[in-house]
Amino acid sequence: MVTAAPGEDRSPALALVNTWRLTPGGPVDDLGSPGEATSWLHRHALAAAVPGAEELSRLTELRTAVRELLAALAEGRAPDAAAVEAVNAAARADAAAPQLAWRGGPRREWHSTRPGTIDAAAAALARDAIDVAGGDLGPLVRPCEAHGCVRFFFREHARRRWCSTTCGDRVRAARHHRLVVEQRETSP
Ligand SMILES: [Zn+2]
Repeated sequence: MVTAAPGEDRSPALALVNTWRLTPGGPVDDLGSPGEATSWLHRHALAAAVPGAEELSRLTELRTAVRELLAALAEGRAPDAAAVEAVNAAARADAAAPQLAWRGGPRREWHSTRPGTIDAAAAALARDAIDVAGGDLGPLVRPCEAHGCVRFFFREHARRRWCSTTCGDRVRAARHHRLVVEQRETSP
């Protein structure tokens, strides 16, 4: 298991984008098969099963759209219109309603009218992506600056530049290596 990037615990849409990543050993996809996608959804409190390739591609297409949304936020540009429409379409797939839950205090929760369906799971992810884009977290979206890493995170601390300590260590090790090589080349 890879460590979650900062913010994944607050945003399942961010976690969705980071299910596809590059590692020194090659690309890794947590949504590589319907079975893997089902357990990923369960780990993120989205109780839906991904029965086949068609449902799986709905999730991976939504992931592509949300990735474009996060990239646009990080780069301060407008996202691709098709990506916005894909996220909106996914959000419309389930007629969820706001419900008041009283757990030691008032909480607004969205309850699906079709719980357990792939539509409900995709809509919950899309709704979260919309909340991120239109809310306080939007300006915090950053791509990891480590070379070869494609994960995103929320920069809640001004100095954070990497999605994980692994990436930070890798960058520092590469910088050190470069320095050693340069010293060797410039020494007589
Ligand atoms: Zn990284």
